[in-house]
Amino acid sequence: MKLSDINVGQKAVIVKFEGSGSFRRRIVEMGFVKGKVVEVVKRAPLGDPIEYSLMGYNVSLRKSEAEHVEVISLHEAEAIAESRRNDPAAPTTITEEEIRSVALEHRREIKVALVGNPNAGKTSLFNALSGSHEKVGNYSGVTVDAKSTELEYKGYHIHLVDLPGTYSLSAYSPEEKYVRNHIVDEHPDVIVNVVDSGNLERNLFLTTQLIDMNLRMVIALNMYDELEKKGDRFDYESLSAMIGVPMVPTVSVNMRGVNELLDTVINLYEGDDATLSKVRHIHIHYGTVIENAISKIKAAMKGNDIDPNPDYTPRYVAIRLLANDPDMETFVKTFPKADNLFKVRDLCISTVKTELKDTPENLMSDSKYGFIAGALKETFTPHERRKGKSLSSRIDAVVTNRFLGYPIFLAALFIMFEATFVLGAYPMDWIAMGVDWLAGTIRDAMSPGILRDLLVDGIIQGAGGVLVFLPNILILFLFISFMEYSGYMARAAFIMDKIMHYIGLHGRSFIPLIMGFGCNVPAIMATRTIENRNARMITALIIPLMSCSARLPIYILFVSVFFRSHAALVLFAIYMAGVLLAALMARLMKSFIFAKEETPFVMELPPYRIPTLKVILRDTWDKCAQYLHKIGTTILIGSIIIWALSYFPLYKDTDYHNLTAEQRLEQTENSYLGRIGKAVQPALAPLGFDWKCSVSLLSGITAKEIVISTLGILYNAGDDEQSLALRLKSELKPDGTPLFTPAVALSFMLFVLIYIPCIATLMTVKHETGSWKWAAFSAVYSVILAWLVSFAVYQSITLNIWQELLAAIIILAALYIVIARIVKRIRHKSDGPDCSTCGAGSCAGCPSRK
Ligand code: GDP
Ligand code: MG
Repeated sequence: MKLSDINVGQKAVIVKFEGSGSFRRRIVEMGFVKGKVVEVVKRAPLGDPIEYSLMGYNVSLRKSEAEHVEVISLHEAEAIAESRRNDPAAPTTITEEEIRSVALEHRREIKVALVGNPNAGKTSLFNALSGSHEKVGNYSGVTVDAKSTELEYKGYHIHLVDLPGTYSLSAYSPEEKYVRNHIVDEHPDVIVNVVDSGNLERNLFLTTQLIDMNLRMVIALNMYDELEKKGDRFDYESLSAMIGVPMVPTVSVNMRGVNELLDTVINLYEGDDATLSKVRHIHIHYGTVIENAISKIKAAMKGNDIDPNPDYTPRYVAIRLLANDPDMETFVKTFPKADNLFKVRDLCISTVKTELKDTPENLMSDSKYGFIAGALKETFTPHERRKGKSLSSRIDAVVTNRFLGYPIFLAALFIMFEATFVLGAYPMDWIAMGVDWLAGTIRDAMSPGILRDLLVDGIIQGAGGVLVFLPNILILFLFISFMEYSGYMARAAFIMDKIMHYIGLHGRSFIPLIMGFGCNVPAIMATRTIENRNARMITALIIPLMSCSARLPIYILFVSVFFRSHAALVLFAIYMAGVLLAALMARLMKSFIFAKEETPFVMELPPYRIPTLKVILRDTWDKCAQYLHKIGTTILIGSIIIWALSYFPLYKDTDYHNLTAEQRLEQTENSYLGRIGKAVQPALAPLGFDWKCSVSLLSGITAKEIVISTLGILYNAGDDEQSLALRLKSELKPDGTPLFTPAVALSFMLFVLIYIPCIATLMTVKHETGSWKWAAFSAVYSVILAWLVSFAVYQSITLNIWQELLAAIIILAALYIVIARIVKRIRHKSDGPDCSTCGAGSCAGCPSRK
């Protein structure tokens, strides 16, 4: 009996729920728990929705939802409970506990459907489970209709259905339609996805479609004997953990695994903890363009009162609508405002087609195969090397090769950076010329005054000095977009996965980290694609150590003056210092702050494709627009503030806007900025910095680019870097020795590399982590780290104690390893993933102890 059949004023006891996982979860969250009593309070005039009272409060359900809740009437439950009594002395009223146990007994009927490719062994499994002897054939299409049987197992009554074999659920062929209708109309409690273990890649395609539907499911890895015979190695437990679906190896012709399969079915159905801890609903990621389309369609569903629950989840409806699924269209048409949704859908499809030059349906299939390829690459090793035939797998054989993969990847990175800096230099000069021309024109056109100084020195030079890096950033992002959309980035993430594990992260963090070399802001935004929260947090917090392009002009300035003969090497060393520190910080954070175990996941290997120009350009433009936005807001305001701090109080002379060089320096030293710099300087003196360095570093908090323009103002040079370079070299300390030595330059560059991320980055950290706490953490730890590193480098060079420094680092590293081991052991003892339920008493040989 369904909850929708109960009349107003009557009561019923909940037995079970049908429908997708998200529907079941929602309804349980509303208070509909198995064994509880519900009363029908009233029906809306047209019979929908229906209001229920349970556990003392009222909730309403749509009729279509109530149809998916199975109940027995309280009357009947009481009668059953009454009839069971053989003790005449028992109290006359029937207790809640008795009612509950009647309901739970009613639950002991489970509807199970076998779904799988033709020839996966469904019928054999059906026979093995039921003992019946259906015809078993070794060619496709023997099962034309569903066959069902009933069996008893451990007190459960199981209705088992053998569905026709199907490669997909796209509802094109009669078999596909039949299977999907069965799932949607009959609502099996558990789906057994029968997979031919010898043909995983093809069989798992159907699995990805079932995953999309968010069903309660277990995978029977059938014909496991054949896999073993071939000598293939398959770590199905890892795969099961990655995709969040339990797996049981079976050999249906000799009953192997059959009982385990039934046990898993029952555990899944009853929601026992050990089984549920392995169950997780994952989303297969279809790439940014399609994911955007899915979000738009979901929003349109919400906006037009189209709630497909409990039959389907909104995401599944969106996916199928994008694939032009006729059956899904028919389903959606039952809603009054369906036309609005179709309009949005059509628009989304045409956007995808113009941007990616293919239909969403094909693209989603590609993503599914990419998901499977990634999942199997990590868990499945065929015995003898069976060569892949597709172009993608042939390219992969080279690109993800154990030996070739890394050099290829490094070469790709090298080309990317070369192009960024070499090609970018030309337009950079043009923009710089344009900025100078604009500044000059305004200077000439306006009469001297504060406004002219503000416009020219504060706004145009400040924002313009940053605008010149736009071409570099554009080129960098062009490369990153190309790598992303061509499919290469996924391979880069894949080959970096192992290395990333050493620092407690995984391959997915790699792409945002690389993007950090361009600009930290979009890089931190890109951490959104990392599912696991801890990994996402760590990645966002270490990205600022990836030296962004804003810091490059500062390095170039110092390297060209003080390390002319080893420029490239020093530049590389600075970048590497950032990378090593990032690795170190990641490890530390992983050990001490974000120590929780993480869930494994699939690293997709989507097929290679030539990206369309349009999608690359749009993506690059999006990222450049973020950069321009930063220039127009944070940097502009920052420049104005810095300019004002250095401009006021006004020079005693009335002609303050036409100062001589000496007067200007005196003015700056006396300005608010100069005073702040002098106040901070004692803290930075051990790093070799004078007050002007301190001021420029302070100004760099608004945006690192501003460090250069501040140095320019303070060391009294124009904005021409060459002349600033010369000025730096000839700057003297009060005692007459040069202020800037290679040691100071190195210390300064390292400080710039590490200290506080710029304001825009901090805002992004706040936005992505959802709290100011982490933005503050990022600012504080980076300053401390910057100070320590610069101090160590500067002092050890000037005091010539390199050996001591290196020895100290090695000792610290050793100490760290010991402490981390101890912490891990203590944590494992106190809260290992399964420790609370484990009765072993000893951790020796525990699988969760890695
Ligand atoms: P269906 O199309 O999915 O119903 O597949 P069938 O049950 O008709 O099985 C196809 C063929 O695979 C038959 O020849 C079975 O004997 C064989 N088969 C089924 N399960 C197994 C198994 O676990 N191991 C082996 N070696 N063969 C199996
Ligand atoms: Mg069959």
